[in-house]
Amino acid sequence: LQADLSHLKTLPAETKDNVRVRLYTNTGLLADITPGLERGAEGIGLYRSEIPFMVHNTFPTEEEQVRIYRGVLTAYAPKPVVMRTLDIGGDKALPYFPIKEENPFLGWRGIRFTLDYRNILLDQIRAMLIANIETQNLQLMIPMLSREDELERFHALVDEAVAQLKEEGHPVSKPPVGIMVEVPAVLWLLPRLRDTIDFVSIGSNDLTQYLLAVDRNNPRVAKLYSHLHPAVLEALRGLVRECRRLNLPVSICGEMASDPAAVVLLLGMGVRTLSLSAFHLPRIKWLIRYLHIGDCIALLDQARDCATEAELRGLINNHLRDLG
Ligand code: PEP
Ligand code: MG
Repeated sequence: LQADLSHLKTLPAETKDNVRVRLYTNTGLLADITPGLERGAEGIGLYRSEIPFMVHNTFPTEEEQVRIYRGVLTAYAPKPVVMRTLDIGGDKALPYFPIKEENPFLGWRGIRFTLDYRNILLDQIRAMLIANIETQNLQLMIPMLSREDELERFHALVDEAVAQLKEEGHPVSKPPVGIMVEVPAVLWLLPRLRDTIDFVSIGSNDLTQYLLAVDRNNPRVAKLYSHLHPAVLEALRGLVRECRRLNLPVSICGEMASDPAAVVLLLGMGVRTLSLSAFHLPRIKWLIRYLHIGDCIALLDQARDCATEAELRGLINNHLRDLG
């Protein structure tokens, strides 16, 4: 299938009724960089910066980090690259920094961890800013945000990094800052956060887990974990509406963006930027080029009447089959 779709690389992700969708890629390892570019990604929507940390034996130094981040930023320049700061804890462990907790998914994760280990975050942000000097295509993204003060503290730390580096003679500038929507509390915080963020990205993997109280990695409850659950869809619909009201750019970088049925509904909600693995990108572009936004909106409305996920998938699949 991938080979058959290679001709799509240079064609835009545009619906039949000429609505342009941006397709970005998710990456973490340097080895993932080229597949995204080869498949026509328009940027990186999620760079999982914990991955290089996970394959090291100790915390990488600032110099090591500069080299890694520069490789990514340079490969994509001038396309945008959204780098998420270190997101460890939960299911992502560092072999050299074990964290033992009763409820790791409700514990010391993402921004909670890095604000407690300020120097780790400061080093990482300094490295990202230095790596960005030539290319100026970096955007910073905060994982697992759940409070307004975390955002304030993050900004203070970025400002401190910028000031330090300028003092040291590096011509750095402060990049755009966005947040992941993974913790449901953020759905009600957006008006308070609006003035100090440039974008939001929906982390539907964690958002689904927290909305449904279903561990995303536990096989015993895997059947209950669904990004097509009516409550998840309703939450996303409300979120996208709120972002539009606040004039806040919104994209999605969870696995949902590579599920064709979910993509139909996301386009119906008004999402116009998807970030997904390079592997799925051609297939989703192919799908988008067959869709009409009006149909997506109608299917999103009909989704409300579906009693089960199977019924909803059936409804969307029938529509896709009719398209050919
Ligand atoms: C998410 O939670 O949807 C996400 C993209 O982050 P991760 O899968 O790395 O937790
Ligand atoms: Mg997540």
